[in-house]
Amino acid sequence: MKVGSALLVDQSTGQVNRPWLGTLVDDLLWLRARKQEVVLVSSGAIALGRRELRLAPGPLALEQSQAAAAVGQIALAHIYKELFATAGVTVAQVLLTLEDSEQRRRYLNARATLSQLIELGALPVINENDTVATTEIRYGDNDRLAARVAQMVSADCLLLLSDVSGLYTADPNLDPAARLIPEIREITPGIAAMGGGSASAVGSGGMATKIAAAKIATAAGCAMAITAGAPLHPVRRLEEGADCSWFLPAQNPENARKQWIAGSLRPSGAVAIDVGAAQALRSGKSLLPAGVVSVRGRFGRGDTVSVLDAGGAEIARGMIAYSDEEAARIAGKRSAEIEAIVGFRGRAEMIHRDNLVVLRGDLATT
Ligand code: GLU
Repeated sequence: MKVGSALLVDQSTGQVNRPWLGTLVDDLLWLRARKQEVVLVSSGAIALGRRELRLAPGPLALEQSQAAAAVGQIALAHIYKELFATAGVTVAQVLLTLEDSEQRRRYLNARATLSQLIELGALPVINENDTVATTEIRYGDNDRLAARVAQMVSADCLLLLSDVSGLYTADPNLDPAARLIPEIREITPGIAAMGGGSASAVGSGGMATKIAAAKIATAAGCAMAITAGAPLHPVRRLEEGADCSWFLPAQNPENARKQWIAGSLRPSGAVAIDVGAAQALRSGKSLLPAGVVSVRGRFGRGDTVSVLDAGGAEIARGMIAYSDEEAARIAGKRSAEIEAIVGFRGRAEMIHRDNLVVLRGDLATT
């Protein structure tokens, strides 16, 4: 479950909205009581910290946000600890950066820690580690962080508590004819287009980041719901039939490794390929050096890269077997020539099909 800053922090006082949060904690305890395992992604650190540091209203510079997060995260962790302690539930603070989900080893490590916490009965409360993240390596919003976490723990369901009650055909604040879409089976380009704009003043996520989150979650076989978080007991209300939008999970999710590759938020680079290679990938084959036309970005062996067609559109993603320099040198060459060029006997494939995900039109996440 993901809770945004706009819900958690009272906008007039800059303090935690305790009466409301108490009812959310009650709901989570009720889920736990019926043996559902809950992981919470909570924003609010920056909103709380900026008040304590008396920073002026309006947009913050990156280092001000990071300073505010360092201060506010203490308050945030404290409130959850206090509220859950009354029910004897232990909370665990986990702060993640984008690198933790984009590098496979760190991803697997974080996953192991979260599984252990859940197994021990603790309730993980997760936020972005804003203080050490730079602009280039930020999740930037907790919607996508929550989706990556849902994928990491193989969640069945991701619930985004929002300031709107779901996905509308148009912005309901501007267009009285806007209709709520209760169920989304596939994130078509038309659905993705409904996500434009509408970020609130406090949090950083709008509908577009929620749709990006839905792509990651549903591809991982996890259902996702968006519902209004502001009413008391928002989770119970959802179960009682409150307005919401459900994004249905993919019927045949890729295996965990491929899900991780497809859900990558920030591929390190890209390789452009020719028409023949694009056809080969679509029919389930590996990417050979011969089909590669050009190489972009800096990456090492094992990094995730985008695969672009002749028109520059991203058609696949994969974990590449060569660094950018090596890849540039063997691009367009036959596999038999690799050893002579790079000086070692590398893989015959630039990206092996086991490490490659061909994206359906609707699955690209960026
Ligand atoms: N990590 C930020 C915070 O705790 C919030 C990011 C977001 O609004 O999505 O304040």
